[in-house]
Amino acid sequence: MNRRYRKTIIAGNWKMNKTASDTKKFAEELKPILPRAKWCEVVVCVPFVNIPIALKAFKDLRVSVGAENLYYEPSGAYTGEVSADMLKDLGVKYVIIGHSERRQYFGETDITVNKKVHAALEAGLHPIICVGESLEQREMGVTMELIALQVKSALANVAPEKVRKCVIAYEPIWAIGTGRTATAEQAAEVCTAIRATIRTLYGARVARSITIQYGGSMNPKNAEELLAQPDVDGGLIGGAALKADQFVDIINAANQEQ
Ligand code: PEP
Repeated sequence: MNRRYRKTIIAGNWKMNKTASDTKKFAEELKPILPRAKWCEVVVCVPFVNIPIALKAFKDLRVSVGAENLYYEPSGAYTGEVSADMLKDLGVKYVIIGHSERRQYFGETDITVNKKVHAALEAGLHPIICVGESLEQREMGVTMELIALQVKSALANVAPEKVRKCVIAYEPIWAIGTGRTATAEQAAEVCTAIRATIRTLYGARVARSITIQYGGSMNPKNAEELLAQPDVDGGLIGGAALKADQFVDIINAANQEQ
């Protein structure tokens, strides 16, 4: 973390978990244990149907609400899809784009990710752009090239004043939901390389202002070491974000005064 230049952001990704009543219950559990003074921003990304209830339940806790996806077209005959404007109008602040599960199961590509990033920015949302390599790609030694390509594609034609609104989440696919975390060195190496890629695209000032998260089995035990890396500015958390006490432990690890 380096709060002198950029925000630390701890974001939960609930995926397809929790009903509307579970959402309310989670907010009630969070209330007494959430730290009052927050040096980091806390976000909970929930399924579309839970967004209105989450906005209401988390408002007084100063927890921002995010979506887990959007569709890039502004409106029209796209049955079942949700636009960026619809999310913005509700009061959503963040939206996860290009999560590996969406790339794997729902045909998302670097091209659709870029379109979604543009749609989110156009609507005034902050995209949390996920990038990450598979185990095979890591073992083949192509991680750095692949991540640089994913970052460049996601940000293609994004103007410098808009790129500052983006968050990049480095999520090695082999670490998501597996209990297998990247070591702090592996996470730091890739997050530093992501910042270097942004530096070549947008210059040093923009690069140092961008929040880069790590995601992949982050939990209360490993959070502190991961977040101690200067280029790891927060976490995107799946499993551990479903339990209020574990989520708060991670928030506390990020909530150190610098
Ligand atoms: C995720 O879904 O973005 C994630 C990192 O999940 P987990 O923390 O469960 O590995």
